[in-house]
Amino acid sequence: MVIIMLEIQDLSKEYDTHMVLDSMKLHIQKGELFGLVGPNGAGKTTMIKIIAGLLEPDAGLVMIDGKRTTTKERRTHAKIGYMPDYSGTYPNLTVYEYMDFYTQMNGYKGKDAKKKIEENLELVNLYSKKEEYVDVLSRGIKQRLCLARCLISEPELLLLDEPTSGLDPRARNDIRMILNTLREKGKTIIISSHLLHDLSKMCSHIGILDKGKMITQGPVEDILQMEEQAKPLRIRFTEVNASLLKFLDSHALINNLTIDGAQAT
Ligand code: ADP
Repeated sequence: MVIIMLEIQDLSKEYDTHMVLDSMKLHIQKGELFGLVGPNGAGKTTMIKIIAGLLEPDAGLVMIDGKRTTTKERRTHAKIGYMPDYSGTYPNLTVYEYMDFYTQMNGYKGKDAKKKIEENLELVNLYSKKEEYVDVLSRGIKQRLCLARCLISEPELLLLDEPTSGLDPRARNDIRMILNTLREKGKTIIISSHLLHDLSKMCSHIGILDKGKMITQGPVEDILQMEEQAKPLRIRFTEVNASLLKFLDSHALINNLTIDGAQAT
């Protein structure tokens, strides 16, 4: 039986006069690892924050597990876990102390808290780093720790905003393997990125968001086939510099790019 975990109908959000989400629709089945792809400014963070109940939309419906929800209900919804794009600083705590703090905030005490911390640190392969100070860990390890923290409340729908951004291939792979394990445990996961090829390696389904509209969504194979059939971008440059490549990358165009007669600088 198909269970729809998340359904969004006609979601709109405007900042001043700028329409960031424009009658957006989306449906995600239970157990999907859904990749939300779109260039910077497409509205991914706004959408994720609305689902997490951190932002009020101007219009539209967000249904969780078949039930209409208000923003406030989602903010405290036991089934929803939100992991922001975290680049902030960390207090002077070890990995274990950090997890202990959030585990207690979730109401766990004594043996239950210890079990919860150990289980989640093992899940993200960080148990061996439990005595290390968070501040000095790499970004990839911090992201895994954030994920472990997010899992304390045992959410069924996980919202991960750009968790692989700025990570090297190995750290991305670590995140990918953890997400696969979580999917096998029945979690529904939404992960955002501006890079299709990054998410296509790990997701079961992809949605392409552009200018606040979901242009298409479907199984990853279908989306990749569509991308292959799309006319490739063929450009002749005399010089390819880093800022141009960065621009193309940030607009998710680099995958489709053919460069003729170019000398990368
Ligand atoms: P993405 O995550 O896809 O990069 P965002 O949801 O962060 O996109 O932003 C979408 C658009 O909304 C961008 O043009 C951004 O500048 C604008 N925006 C985001 N937050 C605010 C805000 N608090 N006030 C005004 N504009 C905002």
